[in-house]
Amino acid sequence: MRDRLTAVRLAGCLFASVVLAGTASGAELWLANARVIDGTGAAPSAARSVHIRDGKLVAISEHAAPAGAIDLHGSYLLPGFIDAHSHIEDPASAERALLSGVTTTRVLGDAYLKGIATRDLVRQGDTPGPEMLTSAGHVRPVLGEAFILSFPQFGRYLHAPLTGADQVAEVGRAVIARGADVIKVGASERAGLAQTDPRRPELSFEEISAVVREASAKGIFVAAHSHGADGVNAAVRAGVRSIEHGTYADEATLPLMKQKGTFWVPTLAVMSPLGDPRGDSAEDIALQLRTYHMMKPLREGVRRAHALGIPVATGTDGTYGDGDATARIRIAHEIEELVKSGYTPLEAITAATGTAARLLGVDSRTGTIAPGKEADLLVVDRNPLEDTTTLFEPMLVVNNGKVVLDRMYR
Ligand SMILES: [Zn+2]
Repeated sequence: MRDRLTAVRLAGCLFASVVLAGTASGAELWLANARVIDGTGAAPSAARSVHIRDGKLVAISEHAAPAGAIDLHGSYLLPGFIDAHSHIEDPASAERALLSGVTTTRVLGDAYLKGIATRDLVRQGDTPGPEMLTSAGHVRPVLGEAFILSFPQFGRYLHAPLTGADQVAEVGRAVIARGADVIKVGASERAGLAQTDPRRPELSFEEISAVVREASAKGIFVAAHSHGADGVNAAVRAGVRSIEHGTYADEATLPLMKQKGTFWVPTLAVMSPLGDPRGDSAEDIALQLRTYHMMKPLREGVRRAHALGIPVATGTDGTYGDGDATARIRIAHEIEELVKSGYTPLEAITAATGTAARLLGVDSRTGTIAPGKEADLLVVDRNPLEDTTTLFEPMLVVNNGKVVLDRMYR
């Protein structure tokens, strides 16, 4: 019953909505007349029936669906989006992400372990949200007060930076022990603070390598925040799974990323004018000017990555929150930015689904539409290969076989 009430509330009152009883364990759901974009990069299919049972896709077939199916009338069915770089820290934001079509996300950095706690609430079924793979804060030379208040055993670093591989590895172990699904390291300084220089390296190659060793021993991946060319290079050589941002990645590193299979999450939309703080403070103005400087090399790098065949995945770097400069950014924005950077709409959708699932290591379960996969799905009413703006307004969102948003007219 709670599932049904949640779905009614999620569907909202602005749209004429019909909400099915939730397809909890044991229940079945059929979709009829779906044009399937399966997330592998294959062209859309002709009309298909989709059978879902126990949260999983059972079959995608040419046979007619039984009575009671949701008729998509030829609308487009895609895998749920994967936001490979978000900062979701509370239940309301998790719900907003889900309603935008995000069924899986990697939360790369939270304050006070709020991302970890929100992940746990979603996993327990206490609140709706995407599957969340979550880091516990960031591992960087200056841990910061929010991190240390969550890990008071590192109080000695409140006024002193971490130095050396042993100290960094110890923090890495603590983050894993606290339940992190992924580790975020700082390979270059942040861009979002006016006093920092995003070109300047932070953790060294040896320090990042030490974290990668700790993470690999537990079977988890490391994501490296890195704008500067030297930081990107050190992180790639150290064997991180993904480069986050990668603004000034250069010719010394891009072929190495291709060779090592390093993923790239360029977060173009947050670096664009869309992500500008647009405030009046001197600090906000400095940050706006910085994004104008950073956008050109970032876009050129992504074009180069496309040509080289480096796997690129979508990430918003957004909170899905209420009011901050990144809250408005959605995966559809990032898909549009990839298209502006030379990707076809189909390639950009693949970056948001199948490729992002491989990055997260969840591709055996989700990210593509195939029998046996989790039924993490969204429906849009126009052909997204002709008009990507349709991706801003999902008509139907299904998470683990459960309808969480339904705007289909019947
Ligand atoms: Zn971020």
